[in-house]
Amino acid sequence: MISHTSLQWQSSDWQSILQTAIRDSAELLQAVGVPQSSLDTITGETAGFAVLAPRPFVARMEYGNPKDPLLLQVLALQEEIAPNAVGTTDPLEEQRFTPVPGIIHKYFGRVLLMTAGTCAVNCRYCFRRHNDYAQNILTPARLNEALTYLRSQRDITEVILSGGDPLLTSDRKLSELVAELEAIPHIQRLRIHTRLPIVIPQRITTELCQRLGQSRFQVTLVVHCNHPKELDVEVGLAMAQLKAQGITLLNQTVLLKNINNCAATLETLSVELFKIGVLPYYLHTLDPVQGAAHFAQPMGDSKQLHQTLQARLPGYLVPKLVSEIPGGASKTLIY
Ligand code: SF4
Repeated sequence: MISHTSLQWQSSDWQSILQTAIRDSAELLQAVGVPQSSLDTITGETAGFAVLAPRPFVARMEYGNPKDPLLLQVLALQEEIAPNAVGTTDPLEEQRFTPVPGIIHKYFGRVLLMTAGTCAVNCRYCFRRHNDYAQNILTPARLNEALTYLRSQRDITEVILSGGDPLLTSDRKLSELVAELEAIPHIQRLRIHTRLPIVIPQRITTELCQRLGQSRFQVTLVVHCNHPKELDVEVGLAMAQLKAQGITLLNQTVLLKNINNCAATLETLSVELFKIGVLPYYLHTLDPVQGAAHFAQPMGDSKQLHQTLQARLPGYLVPKLVSEIPGGASKTLIY
């Protein structure tokens, strides 16, 4: 099922690839051969959330198909600003759990460190689409404050690099950050939440893999992939490089109407992820963020879908169906 898309990006470094990303709805439609008249699009400015689609991801879209599941994840549509659109700007109430800028401390023993303020792709359903990242951007002064907080909280055993996308940080800066964290004795594990290895797999450099492999931490990398069409040969190669360094690879998926709310699609996704060494971890229900209501599907349908997955797949390939409820001690397990 992994498509052999063009290897045209192989010779380019990831920063150059990122610079060529598409940042406009009309340009995106043109690139995938979909007539403007077939979809009711808006600009990123109108949506209050920029359009951003890196070319290796766009290359996996089906040319001429206005219903392509990758296209619909990144194209700004009129539905985002429909007058009856529901949702809030901070559905997980993360501001409540920010003891110092750059840190989100919601759960016992683990914290999020908001390492980067932007992403390599803007997913239209993102629960952080209204975040004012400028407030939390990790300046050297804020990093010092965050590190002081981490040193003072001795029950923290795991740091999760999040964002934005933490892998937008250069290898050198990431290595320095990991070294700072390694110097805090009570931290044992490092987790990285990232969509970059899926949308620009060239981000997985030899230097990055070696640094993570040499860390004193047990390192887990959690990618975010929603559809089997997001996987191609290059993503598989990136995962193999990480795997070779002993890094645990997991995937989280957001359940999205008209994108992946289909048992056969999710079954294929689990099987294909496992082939490249990635275990399905979470299947998230959509967070009620303003501008993304058109991706929501009823909870009953989600449960039924999950039951079908359980019937078709071995247990280790069935991701946990979860929701996030602000103030909960953990994610809420639905199945
Ligand atoms: S990569 Fe993650 S954080 Fe960034 S826009 Fe997509 S869902 Fe949001």
